[in-house]
Amino acid sequence: MKLYEYTAANLSKLLRKKEVSSVEVVQSFLDRIELVEPYVKSFITHTPAMALDMASSVDRKRSKGEKLHPLAGVPIAVKDNISTQGLRTTCASRILENYIPPYDATVVKTIKQLGMPLLGKTNMDEFAMGSSTENSAFYPTCNPWNFERVPGGSSGGSAAAVSTGMAPLALGSDTGGSIRQPASHCGLTGLRPTYGRVSRYGLIAFASSLDQIGPLSLTARDSAMLMNVISGYDTLDSTALPEAVPDYTACLEEGVNKLKIGVIKQNVSEGFDPEITAAVMKAVALLKDDGAEVDEVSLPLTDYGLGAYYLIAPSEASSNLGRYDGVRYGFNAGGNNIEAMFSATRGRAFGPEVKRRIMIGTYALSAGYYDAYYLQAMKVRTLIRRDYEKAFKRFDVLVGATTPTPAFKIGEKTDDPLQMYLSDICNITDSLAGVPSLSVPCGINSVGLPMGMQLTAPPFSEGLLLKVAAFLEQKRTYFPLRPRVKLPQGGDF
Ligand code: GLN
Repeated sequence: MKLYEYTAANLSKLLRKKEVSSVEVVQSFLDRIELVEPYVKSFITHTPAMALDMASSVDRKRSKGEKLHPLAGVPIAVKDNISTQGLRTTCASRILENYIPPYDATVVKTIKQLGMPLLGKTNMDEFAMGSSTENSAFYPTCNPWNFERVPGGSSGGSAAAVSTGMAPLALGSDTGGSIRQPASHCGLTGLRPTYGRVSRYGLIAFASSLDQIGPLSLTARDSAMLMNVISGYDTLDSTALPEAVPDYTACLEEGVNKLKIGVIKQNVSEGFDPEITAAVMKAVALLKDDGAEVDEVSLPLTDYGLGAYYLIAPSEASSNLGRYDGVRYGFNAGGNNIEAMFSATRGRAFGPEVKRRIMIGTYALSAGYYDAYYLQAMKVRTLIRRDYEKAFKRFDVLVGATTPTPAFKIGEKTDDPLQMYLSDICNITDSLAGVPSLSVPCGINSVGLPMGMQLTAPPFSEGLLLKVAAFLEQKRTYFPLRPRVKLPQGGDF
């Protein structure tokens, strides 16, 4: 087995036993990137020299006998909307193409402090608006299981990188599904933490009341290890909550029997791909066999989730993106007067989906329409949250499909924004309710594409979600963790 094939937890063991050095580990991932990246296109910026530097500094400390964090020396890839000091952070947008942040996001500061070498910044939909990574201003990322398909989005670069062994771990962000949906399309575990669990400081804002940073990994244990380091209070983010952070890896040891599981009726719906629904129900049966109590639950407000989300998220986006005016950040198109400059800069450097969101949001917030659209949507959001509170009185965990279909073809939905929006139909209400939500692989379909099951729990129950995910992982016998990709010119990797 090559080093890039190991999970983060196993790399951590090898490093701690000094069986390998971090430089060897990082080199293995860099070699893998050289081989695979030209086909998959997971990264916007590569940082090999920085990764090797960080690795040798960890190796030096280890040889001196310094006490190091379990993840010290284990490399990571970071989505390109998470600020990295002195290193280009583009948000996959022309407007920030050459933007170099003067500070690190809190999560980046943390991973640097504990010595996790940074392999690069990953591709995404522009400003995290999208579900396929096709909205990147630079290039789309391919689904490693099938190059004609999308990896999901907006954290598609992070997902494809972990899925192909170009990184053992990655950070993504999830506003309305952007960690869970790509995790499910690429066969990974992806966790959207409770709103407030992980600091958003330095995460370039899309919709601030929804955005959360979270892990993408091959296993639940790897996500638990990363959650242990990124979770917690941060004085720099007023929405970060001061709840104590448990040891998420310790949660994995407990069993799942006696858990009350609610199968969300709306998320195993008849309109969904039947193979996905069958795979989810098979996973539910595994939980039942182990002693979980299972019943169906309805979240009736789900039908209004998409409508509410596509008013709230664009409204916040239209306000957040007002700062890109050519004066303070990034690209400036010039012009004879200030209005001409604003309009040329924004007109040229924002992509079509970002412009669409800004227009929807500006409309929904404008005088006369605010009450009819934005305010209504906020009321629906409250009712959605109540649906969840009610369901959590009866159930510990709610489950359903992560996505209604497997990964779709590149180009299939680019001309039809509504179809694209509908691909997050199962993910959006969890986001609106602010509850933690995880996607765990639950099978591989008849054409070789991974399928995911979504698990949702009350606020701050990430440990419970990871425990159920780890249980399902142990029962998994039916598919490889990573794809073998056939290259067009023959051979595979
Ligand atoms: N696909 C959804 C959107 O385009 C969610 C994106 C996200 O979670 N960042 O808004």
